[in-house]
Amino acid sequence: MTDLFDLEHIWHPYTSMLNPLPTFKVKRAYGATIELEDGRTLVDGMSSWWCAIHGYNHPELNQAVADQLQNMAHIMFGGLTHEPAIELGKLLLKITSPNLDKIFYADSGSVAVEVALKMAVQYWAALSQPEKTNFITTRSGYHGDTWNAMSVCDPVTGMHQIFGSSLPNRIFVPAPQSRFDGEWNPQDIQELKQQIEQHHHSIAALIIEPIVQGAGGMRFYHPEYLRQAKALCEQYNLLFIFDEIATGFGRTGKMFAWEHAQVEPDIMCIGKGLTGGYMTLSATLTTKDVAETISRGEAGVFMHGPTFMANPLACAVALRSTQLLVEQDWQANIQRIEKILVEQLNDLAQLDHVADVRVLGAIGVVELTTNVDMKTLQQQFVERGIWVRPFGKLAYVMPPYVISDDELHYLLAQLIEVVKSMQGVNANVLA
Ligand code: PMP
Repeated sequence: MTDLFDLEHIWHPYTSMLNPLPTFKVKRAYGATIELEDGRTLVDGMSSWWCAIHGYNHPELNQAVADQLQNMAHIMFGGLTHEPAIELGKLLLKITSPNLDKIFYADSGSVAVEVALKMAVQYWAALSQPEKTNFITTRSGYHGDTWNAMSVCDPVTGMHQIFGSSLPNRIFVPAPQSRFDGEWNPQDIQELKQQIEQHHHSIAALIIEPIVQGAGGMRFYHPEYLRQAKALCEQYNLLFIFDEIATGFGRTGKMFAWEHAQVEPDIMCIGKGLTGGYMTLSATLTTKDVAETISRGEAGVFMHGPTFMANPLACAVALRSTQLLVEQDWQANIQRIEKILVEQLNDLAQLDHVADVRVLGAIGVVELTTNVDMKTLQQQFVERGIWVRPFGKLAYVMPPYVISDDELHYLLAQLIEVVKSMQGVNANVLA
């Protein structure tokens, strides 16, 4: 099943080249279906890591790419511009927080985060506060794999141990503990308050994933955390950066997660679902004040400019994907998915080896009491005709929004069977 060349020569994410995990060769994908080379079909529970919000092989998205291809696949963005970047920009400003006014297009989520961090540093330098270069963040966060993005990822589950002192030293505070749908515990904000009070002179910004901490643990936290964090940022002169790369484009039940708290960031990163999963594109949005301050600084310009910035094919498909989303009753659709996730998954919480079950929007999470054996579990899921990729203690789904009720019921029924079958399995075997 696993392709030998692939196994021997091609690196997959976070994989050993001595003992690689098996990979399943995909022939095609359409709607919420992934078809393997050997003819088996899988119901997709992952949206290709949050991206494929409209499912695969969508006729209108295919058409958007084909149409743009007739004009140009790519053109440099230095000194030139094009319709797809402009139209996409107009739409993004309509659907993100009202205070955001300027858009920097980049090529991936990690780069959008790098851009956000650089903006924050240049902003304070322009205000003659060049000592404000560090960042504060919460534990259990994830912001990408490039150097500075990595430095603000959770220091334990992130890659800090491996890269050690080569990473810049950031200030970490405990992850918010108050649950999204639970009581707010004022203790939650105390450490952030203390650290900001102590270090604000050297901090450029607080960076955070609003409401949902994704790859750092799939945790949903209380909106009050963002409101109080915003007040601290205002009081102590910190910029507030929201990484909405995973949470954007409806996934949490709001178009963007800031809406749950009604807290507007100074800088917002978006990516993933931006192109409907067709290709890589990200954007870092900021306020008029941040952009103009940077431009008044000594450098006079913002110092970043990737080769594939605002790639026209990517912008064209992102425009169509975002139009598709806003043209439909997407909120009702996310509520449909959320309702089924709650109905189907909640009973699992009663199992001894399940620590927690949580659902928000089109995200359903089953947290186990011990780490899962990804290889065995992935194989079982594939044999049952579903695509779910667990990590750590988590088996979770975030299906494409086009998934039908029947497909979703099938996906969850199979997931539930696998989770139930793990009861009593020795933790050491799974670890
Ligand atoms: N931020 C968040 C919140 C993410 O979930 C991710 C990707 N998992 C990234 C940043 C990095 O995005 P990319 O993989 O496109 O570089």
